[in-house]
Amino acid sequence: MAEDLFCKIVAGEIPADKVYEDEDVLAFRDIKPQAPVHILIIPKRHIAMLADATEEDERLLGKLLLVASKLAKQEGIADSGFRVVVNNGPDSGQDVFHIHVHLLGGRKMGWPPG
Ligand code: AMP
Repeated sequence: MAEDLFCKIVAGEIPADKVYEDEDVLAFRDIKPQAPVHILIIPKRHIAMLADATEEDERLLGKLLLVASKLAKQEGIADSGFRVVVNNGPDSGQDVFHIHVHLLGGRKMGWPPG
């Protein structure tokens, strides 16, 4: 049995609007987009949060960012600009405990983030 929502998406137990997939990584559109482009990039393997990642995950973490960059180009937001966000723990508002990179773009964003 898949242990969290995103493991269930990886397992095909719940549907997702997938935009990228390889042996390690899956990317799909956020169900509640906060920008015209809002994609979540996740490892297929369960890691609850960034703080749980270890040296063994170095390559996988790098891959999540490279996929984000590739998707930004594919979505046509590489030149206008985009943001990648990884929420970790209660103060960040992390809701799903399966590490994910948010790729956001297609509108002007404020700084500092809320
Ligand atoms: P976070 O707050 O960083 O844990 O982000 C979790 C994200 O997952 C939120 O932006 C949600 O809108 C998104 N989300 C929750 N359920 C789904 C789903 N079934 N498919 C796609 N995105 C989802």
